[in-house]
Amino acid sequence: MKYHSTRGGVTGVSFKDVVLSGYASDRGMFLPETFPRVPVDTLKTWADLSYVELAYEICSLYISDQDIPSSDLKGILEKSFSTFSIPEVVHIAELSEGLNISELYHGRSLAFKDLAMSCMGNFYNYFLSQSRQHMTLLVCTSGDTGSSAIEAVRGFEFVDIIVILPRGRCTEIQERQMTTVLDKNVHVYRADGTSDDIDVTVRELFDDTAYVKKHHLASPSSLNFGRIVIQIVHFFFTYLKLCPNVHEEVEVIIPTGAGGNVTAGLIARTMGLPVRFVCAVNHNNVMSHMMETGKCQFGSIQVTLSPAMDIQFGYNLERIWHMCSNGDSATVKEIMSQVDQNEVNIPPSILNAMKSAIEVYVVSGDEEIKATIRRCWTENEYNICPHTAVGVSYWYSQHDRGLTNGVPSVVLATASPLKFPEAIKASGVPVPASDNIQSLFSKPTHYVDLELGQNWTEIIKAKIENITASLKQAV
Ligand SMILES: *Cc1c(COP(=O)(O)O)cnc(C)c1O
Repeated sequence: MKYHSTRGGVTGVSFKDVVLSGYASDRGMFLPETFPRVPVDTLKTWADLSYVELAYEICSLYISDQDIPSSDLKGILEKSFSTFSIPEVVHIAELSEGLNISELYHGRSLAFKDLAMSCMGNFYNYFLSQSRQHMTLLVCTSGDTGSSAIEAVRGFEFVDIIVILPRGRCTEIQERQMTTVLDKNVHVYRADGTSDDIDVTVRELFDDTAYVKKHHLASPSSLNFGRIVIQIVHFFFTYLKLCPNVHEEVEVIIPTGAGGNVTAGLIARTMGLPVRFVCAVNHNNVMSHMMETGKCQFGSIQVTLSPAMDIQFGYNLERIWHMCSNGDSATVKEIMSQVDQNEVNIPPSILNAMKSAIEVYVVSGDEEIKATIRRCWTENEYNICPHTAVGVSYWYSQHDRGLTNGVPSVVLATASPLKFPEAIKASGVPVPASDNIQSLFSKPTHYVDLELGQNWTEIIKAKIENITASLKQAV
């Protein structure tokens, strides 16, 4: 299996180079050159597999033996998923009235990002220790990505990670999940600004390609196809748990932000999994307007109870457009130049292809999120996080209109309620307790503050250069 860019300028790239580079050199995003199909008979035989076994079957289709020999791949997957707190890795909760919830959050940072990130950490470590090369990961986070990436690489010899978080704009638990990590390869900065402000610094650094090359900078965000490939697995796993006979289509409701999760779902569908999707978003997302009109309207972002979804333009849309245009990279390139000019027109053929697989639901606001958390607790004594609640809000709205009868559907729970006690408390529901979370508040912390008026780019550059210099000394 080789990879090409959504913009058509790069082909024949190996999985290893995809993981180690992030963006393609024509600024496009990597996708596999072909999508392997899984026949229904094979799907049925996968229904009995454990999570790791299923991950192995799916990864083998995307990662060639030259990139990672199969025995090594098995080892990497076993090691990655052994960090999960439940042996089945993903658990499906079956609640009253037919509401199904796929708990994707049993990894170390308590968000679904751990599924892919734990594997990414081990992919990096595998490739880099072979060549004895070092890499510095740079992450701007509005919440869950940072702690998930830190947990995936802390203590690794060949990786340093720099995380910049928007001070006071993540929850306290999210912030402490990052600042209480004392490993020497973890460097946390708390910036006095929004994640958009931090993005400016991060983009400045990544736009300097010579600098990126010189210091081996990389990003573990979901622009990296390595993450997408692992995320395909939970769609197969969730589907097969609900429908082991593979006899009907299942509706998968996805709390959506940057769209990495739904992109993986769309690939699963292209591979033959009988699923369709509802992207549940908050009003910050441009997707619903785009699906209706073909146009993107950008505005300012307002903070909501679902911060991991406070995203306007999910950059994975570029992959979705590529897939929904049957790989028409010229058109994708044209759309992306329109995005840069803030004047987007999606051709009707692409919109129709998107609509055949994806519906969009916009939650009306924080009040609906709180009411949903409350109702789910009242009906089931089951706690959900405010992101998951956006998906469950959609399910309730359908259920109350009698539209869910007989339609098998499942909401992906993207984070643990343990991570969001503020939102749960605000909903008037008993707050779940956890010793692990409680202990965050008594642990020592380590971080550097970035203040307004300081040149953040120069400060981060100095850190990067300091890391590179210390490596030279070690050699
Ligand atoms: C990252 C995240 C999302 C959004 O996922 P995308 O793949 O970016 O669409 C939703 N919920 C939670 C809790 C997250 O951490």
